[in-house]
Amino acid sequence: RQARYAALRDLPNVTKDGAAVDLLLNAGLLVDLPHITETGAAGIGLFRTELQFMVASTFPRISEQLRLYRAVLDAAGDRPVTFRTLDIGGDKVLPYMRTVEEENPALGWRAIRLGLDRPGLLRSQIRALLRAAAGRELRVMFPMVADVAEFDQARTILERELTHLRKHGHSLPEKVYAGAMVEVPSLLFQLDEILSRADFLSVGSNDLVQFLFAADRSNVRVADRFDPLSPAALRAFRMVAQAGARHGKPVTLCGELASRPLEAIALAAVGFRALSLSPAAVGPVKSVLLDLDLGAARALIEPLLADTTGTADIRARLKDFAETSG
Ligand code: PEP
Ligand code: MG
Repeated sequence: RQARYAALRDLPNVTKDGAAVDLLLNAGLLVDLPHITETGAAGIGLFRTELQFMVASTFPRISEQLRLYRAVLDAAGDRPVTFRTLDIGGDKVLPYMRTVEEENPALGWRAIRLGLDRPGLLRSQIRALLRAAAGRELRVMFPMVADVAEFDQARTILERELTHLRKHGHSLPEKVYAGAMVEVPSLLFQLDEILSRADFLSVGSNDLVQFLFAADRSNVRVADRFDPLSPAALRAFRMVAQAGARHGKPVTLCGELASRPLEAIALAAVGFRALSLSPAAVGPVKSVLLDLDLGAARALIEPLLADTTGTADIRARLKDFAETSG
């Protein structure tokens, strides 16, 4: 099997009927970087910058952040890397950072909320990213955006840092793209607004599913209670993919969902043309995508999503489909 996946590595990621679906990696530490070439991934779709902070014993200095970001860009070469700004708080705690106990940390003071309230931290991280990407492209995305105003504020911080570096004679990235993660359901109802501002979107399926179904992703009693292949979740994913297409802006999905072959088929069928997944999943997912008749998958799923009887078993139908056609 491993050998078969290795043989697929250099093939283009194109379904049997000719649709390109990019496979990117979720990463966060230096040790993840060799996976880019090992898997033949198209780039890094989610670089979780908080991991460096989580394994440290004090706040990493700007110089340390800069060194990591530069190493990531060097390792990726021509392939794109999307850096997510710090997503701390919630289930991601820094032992050296004083925080208040929260009753519902997942709904609490975390990610971009913390970043905007403590702009010093976000600003220094953005400065490190801009400097690391001097002379190259930089893609930055903000986690847990719940309202477009938060994206505007984060972008303003980014613009200010660009101006600051320019004024001080630093060389700058060739191009800076700013995106938002879609992982809070409120953003599903502001897609046109966010897409007229952001350069790209990335669905954070772990959090989006958790919040859509109000089911704690870290609570084993409820985490798997609701199926991400159910009409409710797939309609939400489809909304994002369709809105991106309408605005001509790239939309990716990161989060563990894309790492499962059946789920990856469904995501491609509702319109995603880029998925970011864990390194070990690239081979298996690529293998099913190469064999996929995407038109047929779409023809299967669309009527199931239009079904209003509340009885559509998309997972079972997709499983049949995958077994009989692949
Ligand atoms: C997600 O929520 O799907 C995501 C990619 O972010 P994280 O898992 O790091 O919260
Ligand atoms: Mg998330």
